[in-house]
Amino acid sequence: MADLPRKTLPILAPRAVRNVGDARPLAERLADFAQPAALFDRTEHGHIRCSACAHRCVIQEGRAGACTVRFVRGDALYAPHGYVARRYVRTVEINTLYHFHPGARSLIVGMYGCDLRCPYCHNWRLSQALREDNVEDEEPLPCTPDELAQHAVDSGCTVMAAAYNEPMISAEWIRAVFSAAKSKGLATAIISDANTTREALAYVRPVCDAYRVDLKATDNERYKALGGRIAPVIDAIALARELGFWVEVVTMVVPGFNDDLQGLRGLADAIKRVDPEIPWHLNAFVPRYKLDRVPRMEMASLASAVGMAYARGLRFVYASNAPGGYSEMSHTRCPGCHATLIERNDYVTTANHLRDGACPHCNTVVPGVWGSELVDGLRIDGAEAP
Ligand code: SF4
Repeated sequence: MADLPRKTLPILAPRAVRNVGDARPLAERLADFAQPAALFDRTEHGHIRCSACAHRCVIQEGRAGACTVRFVRGDALYAPHGYVARRYVRTVEINTLYHFHPGARSLIVGMYGCDLRCPYCHNWRLSQALREDNVEDEEPLPCTPDELAQHAVDSGCTVMAAAYNEPMISAEWIRAVFSAAKSKGLATAIISDANTTREALAYVRPVCDAYRVDLKATDNERYKALGGRIAPVIDAIALARELGFWVEVVTMVVPGFNDDLQGLRGLADAIKRVDPEIPWHLNAFVPRYKLDRVPRMEMASLASAVGMAYARGLRFVYASNAPGGYSEMSHTRCPGCHATLIERNDYVTTANHLRDGACPHCNTVVPGVWGSELVDGLRIDGAEAP
């Protein structure tokens, strides 16, 4: 029994929820959708050990892992399946993906649960829905992969993204949904905390084009406060590149948590060691969830961090969540001649001057996955404002 985790969660933890039609707790309703999982192995004692994320929970019968949504029933691990908690049509840029089909519409789908517990989560009503009491749930919407893919096509989307909660804890379902998306010609992206494993990344890679990473904290101590570790995240960035995903990295810079320049310098160096051409987005914190009394991130400090990252050798660094005066920090500039190549405003691409993925002035190649949705400022496929 030495390999059992110190703490697992009961599947049917009682909690107060607002339900429509079905008065059972959310965990119980979600268990109805769950299907046997593929991402697991067994310990030397025969216990089920999940491999969908870097926690690698060893889970007993009748218990759930740290993410709250993968659980063991009988002698099988079950994973989320057959529903979405949210599906929105938004610009692809709202996923903080700037070098991936700029100007595209994306259908963004999300579910419940997370392997981390960030106190500033923007989507905590989904990610923490099974940990928090008195969450007004967005009801799970039963659906099939084909229905979601068709909805994307009917909505004029050329991209499907999995976001809002941590997609990799539902990797089996995401793979099924993205398989259907691929059959209809859609590009696909996962927006992840990257607390994941080689097995999980390899499992989704055949149907997933882009892996957008949240690199949340500057060291292990701060990661512990979120329920994770930094090493698996850095490893996942390198692994994703190795496996051929298009990769971009986001760090939400939170005053008093991860805004020290020395720590951010360490993150810039870690990204550069993988590949200096990986875009790094420094997002300005805005008060929310449990950090609703922490002030907004000052843009002047964020601008200093952007300058530091360029000085460390990264080639594409952006500031996001920026008020009007700083919106130019979301433009893509040529690393050769510094011409403005892609213009953005408030997570919408407004002009794309790239020619065949290169600067039209000096022919420097700009890395990315460049679709045909937006060419030289002519919006072909208008995107709904976020
Ligand atoms: S996805 Fe992560 S947190 Fe959830 S059961 Fe698997 S290893 Fe544990």
